[in-house]
Amino acid sequence: VTKPFDLAELRARVRSSLKLNQLVRMLAQRAQIDGLTGLWNRAAFDRRWSEEYSRAARHGHPLSLVLLDIDHFKSINDTFGHPAGDAVLIGLAKLLTRELRSNDVACRYGGEEFAVIMPDTGTNAARQTCERLRVALESVVWPRHPERKVTMSIGCVGCDQVPSVPAERWLELVDQNLYAGKRSGRNRVTAASLEEALGMKIAV
Ligand code: GH3
Ligand code: MG
Ligand code: MG
Repeated sequence: VTKPFDLAELRARVRSSLKLNQLVRMLAQRAQIDGLTGLWNRAAFDRRWSEEYSRAARHGHPLSLVLLDIDHFKSINDTFGHPAGDAVLIGLAKLLTRELRSNDVACRYGGEEFAVIMPDTGTNAARQTCERLRVALESVVWPRHPERKVTMSIGCVGCDQVPSVPAERWLELVDQNLYAGKRSGRNRVTAASLEEALGMKIAV
């Protein structure tokens, strides 16, 4: 805009710039949100996990990471239909939002897998929270299939001090715990401290 300017034109330009800015912000936010559940999506998880990891590593704050995977979810789709499966995903997302602290970061990691980053939370507190989530899901009566319970397996690795492994390795350890829980019967929480997880032998 060059001087001398027309006031009406300036107003219009400022207004359209503000609108554009608002739109760009909205799109940037939407790009981080999962369309079905309204939780943070995988891209947002990757960013937040790296940020929270760095923060905890810098200050030695406790931090826990959790992966949740619905048990036999394929059979819910196959038996009751895809919309019933979708309703379970939405229901679990609501349950997570309701049960977790406001600074916990609940994400849809992909398909029927969810991730929760728990800042300022050590292993024991995270384990208790996971157990509460597990029981809460198991207790839901689903309108579309009241006779069929839905359960999930949960892997959790927490750290009370400065983490001794990189963020990616930590995530792998959480995944190992999740699959250890699947193998040993599902509907269970497998939680460990980072040190325990590193020393843990995983049965194949
Ligand atoms: P496990 O207990 O070992 O975890 O078995 P599972 O059946 O839960 O796991 P599997 O990986 O075999 O199946 C996951 C299924 O999730 C397959 C896929 O069709 C379904 N799925 C993924 N995304 C969606 C979705 O957005 N909606 C619905 N309804 N189903 C989905
Ligand atoms: Mg899965
Ligand atoms: Mg599953």
